[in-house]
Amino acid sequence: MAKRDYYEVLGVEKSASEDDIKKAYRKLAKKYHPDLNKDNKEEAEAKFKEVSEAYEVLSDASKRQRYDQFGHAGVDGNAGGSYGAGGFGGFDGFDVGDIFESFFGGGFGGRRSATRAQRGSDIGQRVTITFEEAAFGTSKTIDITRMEKCEHCGGSGAKAGTQAETCKTCGGTGQVRMSMGFMTTQRTCDACHGTGKIIKTPCEHCRGQGLVRKSRKIDVNIPAGIDNGQRVSVRGQGNHGKNGGPAGDVIIAVTVKPHALFTRQGDNVLCDFVVTFTEAALGAKLEVPTLDGKVEFTLPEGTQSGSVFRLRDKGITHLQMRGRGDQLVKIIVEVPKNLNSKQKELLRQFANETGDKNNKQKKSFADKIKGLF
Ligand SMILES: [Zn+2]
Ligand SMILES: [Zn+2]
Repeated sequence: MAKRDYYEVLGVEKSASEDDIKKAYRKLAKKYHPDLNKDNKEEAEAKFKEVSEAYEVLSDASKRQRYDQFGHAGVDGNAGGSYGAGGFGGFDGFDVGDIFESFFGGGFGGRRSATRAQRGSDIGQRVTITFEEAAFGTSKTIDITRMEKCEHCGGSGAKAGTQAETCKTCGGTGQVRMSMGFMTTQRTCDACHGTGKIIKTPCEHCRGQGLVRKSRKIDVNIPAGIDNGQRVSVRGQGNHGKNGGPAGDVIIAVTVKPHALFTRQGDNVLCDFVVTFTEAALGAKLEVPTLDGKVEFTLPEGTQSGSVFRLRDKGITHLQMRGRGDQLVKIIVEVPKNLNSKQKELLRQFANETGDKNNKQKKSFADKIKGLF
């Protein structure tokens, strides 16, 4: 069954404050509490679970951010290997290893100690550019929301002037050993949730998280030759790390808008050019649109519909290489319509004057048919 949107579950807006989320949760948790719903216990239990899960994510600033960006896949511990296709809608095959590192590092999966330096997670963002911008490269300023080290507490999570104390229960390791008979197992310390530290007076700006959400504008250079669906990463502009770990990256998925005249094939630009029947027969000087503006082109006499001409180096710049592709111009011959009687008469006279020599294709085609019957 598809999971419902967490905001929808709690009945709050995407922009809801922490307070709104808490209030919504309390109200719903009471409403669906299994002890208060003895008549339809099963349904209430399911609802209660759903509400609690939504709250667990939306009440945690960093989980909420991951959810905003990547949907359920960003916060679902069970998503494991399947997040690539499901959660990213278009970000197929996107490497999200780092995104989950801090997640598991947080003690959820217990794979790493939370006391270790953790790299900040990557932030995915989409940018739409024009065909020309893709051909020649561009730079864009984009808005992102990222987790930054809280400047009030310097990332410690302890109120300015106070310090986090080493957890006495685990001695600062974040893990406790338990002996059961001859077996010793390790688990995440309950007292400090694996962080190894106890914050007596949390910093009120980051609620003891050490990180705060910030909106930032960052500049992205999009190289010439980029194609629809390709990605550009901006190193070190993603979420800040924890415990002195480096920041993640911002990864930009580029969408290239279709062009009215041009289509792309590799680094070549394809375009159709419509000419009249007489231009095709007599030849003509054409002004062909290219990415560099109009270019004069001499259409030779007797050009057939469908002929393709190549304009060298008028295509798209090769990505991270010298040189450009070509432009391929396909000639489309328009047969005149809505002829008046004088025009028709002229064409009949013209037809009487022409013969096999003028229409070689027609002649050989007719011969093939004859041979068949
Ligand atoms: Zn703080
Ligand atoms: Zn501890």
